[in-house]
Amino acid sequence: MSKTIIVSNRLPLQINIEDDQLTVNPSVGGLATGMKSVHQGGESLWIGWSGLTEEQTTDEIAAKVDDAVAKENCAVVSLSEDDVDHFYYGFSNKTLWPLFHYFMEYTVFEREDWLSYQTVNQKFADKVLEHVEDGDKIWIHDYQLLLLPDLIKSKKPDTSIGFFLHIPFPSYEVFRTFPWREEILKGMLGADLIGFHTYDYERHFLSSVRRILRLETSFNEISYDDRIVKVDSFPMGIDYKKFHDAAEKHQQQTEDEKSDIQKKLDEHLASASDAKMILSIDRLDYTKGIPNRIKAFEYFLERYPEYKQKVRLIMLAVPSRSNVPQYQLLKKETDELVGRVNGKFSTVSWTPIWYFYRSLPFGNLIDLYASCQVAMITPIRDGMNLVAKEYIATRVEKDGVLVLSEMAGAAKEMNEALLINPNNFEETAQTLKRALEMPKEEQIKRNIPMQKRLERYSVERWAKEFMKALDNNEDHRVSLVSKKITPVIQEEIVNQFKKAKKKIIFLDYDGTLVGFQNNPLDAKPDEELFSLLDQIHNAENTDMVIISGRDKETFTEWFKNKNYTLITEHGVWLRKEDKSWTTFDKIKNDWMDKLRPILETFVDRTPGTFIEEKNFSLAWHFRKVDPELADLRAMELKTVLNSLISNHNLSVLEGNKVIEIKSSNVNKGRAANRMLALEDYDFIFAIGDDYTDEYMFQELPKSAVTVKVGLKKTNAKYFINDTKEVRKLLNNFS
Ligand code: UDP
Repeated sequence: MSKTIIVSNRLPLQINIEDDQLTVNPSVGGLATGMKSVHQGGESLWIGWSGLTEEQTTDEIAAKVDDAVAKENCAVVSLSEDDVDHFYYGFSNKTLWPLFHYFMEYTVFEREDWLSYQTVNQKFADKVLEHVEDGDKIWIHDYQLLLLPDLIKSKKPDTSIGFFLHIPFPSYEVFRTFPWREEILKGMLGADLIGFHTYDYERHFLSSVRRILRLETSFNEISYDDRIVKVDSFPMGIDYKKFHDAAEKHQQQTEDEKSDIQKKLDEHLASASDAKMILSIDRLDYTKGIPNRIKAFEYFLERYPEYKQKVRLIMLAVPSRSNVPQYQLLKKETDELVGRVNGKFSTVSWTPIWYFYRSLPFGNLIDLYASCQVAMITPIRDGMNLVAKEYIATRVEKDGVLVLSEMAGAAKEMNEALLINPNNFEETAQTLKRALEMPKEEQIKRNIPMQKRLERYSVERWAKEFMKALDNNEDHRVSLVSKKITPVIQEEIVNQFKKAKKKIIFLDYDGTLVGFQNNPLDAKPDEELFSLLDQIHNAENTDMVIISGRDKETFTEWFKNKNYTLITEHGVWLRKEDKSWTTFDKIKNDWMDKLRPILETFVDRTPGTFIEEKNFSLAWHFRKVDPELADLRAMELKTVLNSLISNHNLSVLEGNKVIEIKSSNVNKGRAANRMLALEDYDFIFAIGDDYTDEYMFQELPKSAVTVKVGLKKTNAKYFINDTKEVRKLLNNFS
């Protein structure tokens, strides 16, 4: 039976060894909860690091750990201290983490760390490959494993792989600074489905894929090798019920049941009739904007002194990555700032900031969430931020105000919160005041829709939606594209060719027989191509037609020594075996003088583009332009042209990095059918790579063998990867 393999840097288990005694407890984090529905029964396996290095364990203990985790349907990837230093503290946390959070000044690019990152991703791949069977699904998590999808896909192309990034994906301008940017993108593209928290991260990723790998994307799909990779956003939720239920229970606590922290919080609230508390909870990470928050609070107390003695900031900073120097500096800075503010404002009965540097158990978190009237969650940059969601979930009376940074992924779904820019102290201070003074009715009105959303889109639902999308993409992959020409299919086609009495072969030129060149005149036929064409041309009972969008002058020059049949300008001109040119139809070209100036303005505004003028068509080429600008301009030009050409019997065609305007009566499909009318063919073959060839694929009889070069949406029956493969295939026609 097929299973799901979950892969993350850490296993969802707390493993400890004390006095050779092993204890294994499940973790309670959000991911572990979300994956419950995926990771259950005997149908799933979770692969990750145990948290213990090879140096910390003897062989005997490692074997015990393996056995213990196997009982939880988990398997361990074994890492050495050196791996953890360079792969985890190094590349993951000193390179990827700061860069992806836009902290370029903290980003270090160390080759040694990069090598370790590759090695460790390979270790994860080896472990997955040890367990994976055909038909299994794999879900890989987060930035520590960006290379893993491809390492698995290249060995097991038939497994369905999903990848989810839990942190932001930065804009292209930031991502491009990364020395190993291509490797990272290709690593991720091993997945069939790539998920992000927000649409913005998805957009940034697609932009980098287009610009760095120069791959084609269409909406949220990327054509890559012979696959379609789908990219989508899945905002991660929380275990709403767990937080809400705990808060309801918390409300009914008796005095005796209250924790020490709760008693302290109650004391503050009782100290004045209008005493209030502002909550701040994060890991101590520079992305969380903790120093900014303290400074903004300081500014708030200065600006609105009436709040002194009444308002207190309850700040929980959870220790994190304390081996990384930036985090040590941040700890020092935070301690000093808290000291400064408390020193400046404290009175005998009031300290403005209560600062805890530790992690608190779940029960105490609920104490904090439930007791604070305002939560100030103001990261500089945050992939999602679950604390913001947890705060809203615990507000059983539906009151409380969330002040949330726009830079948190959560802000995209929590529009009813008070959104602020954490770098703007003035705005933050004013917003804090507004939050503290907000009438209850308004608080409730804002929180109701957020609670509903959080309840509906829980972390469990998030996991289910992702898995569903992964399943859908599996079907999608098969139906969206034509069949790849396998050796068996190739043999069938060649057999048909051999058996047939009269055959015709339509060959597109650019992108099919030759690869694309930046300058179209550089794409001349080479000797190998000539001999291949000669071979087909000379084959018995075979008519070969090169059918292209090129102008007739270029083909006349290139094929002056050959008597091949040529069709140019998508079907305007026909050169017969005697090398004389004729047109299929009478075609007008008086429209060209009107449209040429419009194309010229696009050339002026888009450096690197140029106009190609043919006898009966005009083409605007944008091959050399930055793909994003090109897409934008192409869209603009199509809009302009389409509004101008109505009633003129003209069509705007989009080819491979070219937009062409020509008479609607002319297309390759029509031209090919004209050729078919001349003889009784029992083998028809057509091959081409772009939109203009689709007319042939569509209009040729059903029995025709039609082949698309490259994996794109197509009407052709088959596809083939590139021009190299085209030549190999055609070599069988003799
Ligand atoms: N949390 C915790 N113990 C604490 C403080 C926080 O378990 O003492 C949890 C909190 O409930 C939340 C998570 O840590 O689920 C933090 O997630 P978030 O997305 O806010 O930030 P991250 O640490 O993932 O960047």
